[in-house]
Amino acid sequence: MLRTMLQAAARSDRLERMVGRNRLLRPAVDRFVAGASAEDVIRSARRLADDGLYATIDQLGEACRDARAAERTAREYVALLHRVADAGLADRVEVSVKLSALGSELDWALAEEQTRLICAAADEAGTTVTVDMEDSSTTEDTLRVLRALRRDHPRTGGVLQAMLRRTADDCRDLGEPGSRIRLCKGAYHEPAAVAVTAAADINAAYLRCLGLLMEGGAYPMVATHDPRLVAGAAALARKHGMGRDAWEYQMLFGVRADEQRRLAQAGHRVRVYLPYGPDWYRYTCRRLAERPANLVLLGRAMLSR
Ligand code: FAD
Repeated sequence: MLRTMLQAAARSDRLERMVGRNRLLRPAVDRFVAGASAEDVIRSARRLADDGLYATIDQLGEACRDARAAERTAREYVALLHRVADAGLADRVEVSVKLSALGSELDWALAEEQTRLICAAADEAGTTVTVDMEDSSTTEDTLRVLRALRRDHPRTGGVLQAMLRRTADDCRDLGEPGSRIRLCKGAYHEPAAVAVTAAADINAAYLRCLGLLMEGGAYPMVATHDPRLVAGAAALARKHGMGRDAWEYQMLFGVRADEQRRLAQAGHRVRVYLPYGPDWYRYTCRRLAERPANLVLLGRAMLSR
């Protein structure tokens, strides 16, 4: 119930205007977001690198309804990639992009064009781009754009959501050698017609899909904090004889940070999803929805201020 309310809050422009203006969610923002500026996020990425971790930087902002804003977002990503290269972090840090922040709600061709500029800058910097996945109404178009981008930028990563009923087929389709695929449970509220919703069913689907990616020779990016899936991924990798450089774990900034460091110290490649920027509202609501217990921590932090 609370989860559904928080997911609805993440989609509400009105609440974003109300809550975004005051400091109510500040403690949650500080926990899940690396800062407001490019300098902030580069500083965080360097700290992670010093701890043996990798990063994928996300410039917060989604559902842009203005072509000029989409172009501005792309330019900011290009500038960020220059900074990543200048900071000597290109072997540790890539970027994640949302097609809706690059104009897909106006025109998919515009979003593809803007993402191409970012992919070209990533090639030049010596790193990669991963295209995030949004709600299921966008899956087909997002994967079409991903395939088009990969013709010129083959290392471009994609994301599949284990909860969607179609994902096993997508894993068979995209699970080929060299294909960088982030597998996550799925962060969006989806109808039963397209998604499984029971936790046990999502976990079973996750491991089935991960097995398909490994069988196909893809480079799976295991994006989860779930201890059962973290252990299950390592077991599957052993079963498929995959070396530690043939796949990686991914976790969100601010979530299970000790586990991120433990896995890295045990020799795994661990990449932290590192969001930054002033448009933090929707991202923060989705993080709270994933674990409503975080609201208690948020309440305590607010009371102690
Ligand atoms: P859960 O069952 O949600 O969590 C397992 C355990 O992890 C919890 O018991 C708790 O201990 C801890 N935990 C999980 N979330 C939190 C939290 N917010 N705060 C504190 N503790 C928590 N989804 C998309 O739809 N599209 C994407 O492109 C996408 N990219 C992602 C990239 C990365 C690197 C990661 C890690 C996730 C991404 N997600 C994306 C979100 C994902 O789909 C899930 O919503 C999210 O990861 C929670 O699922 P979980 O696998 O961690 O398992």
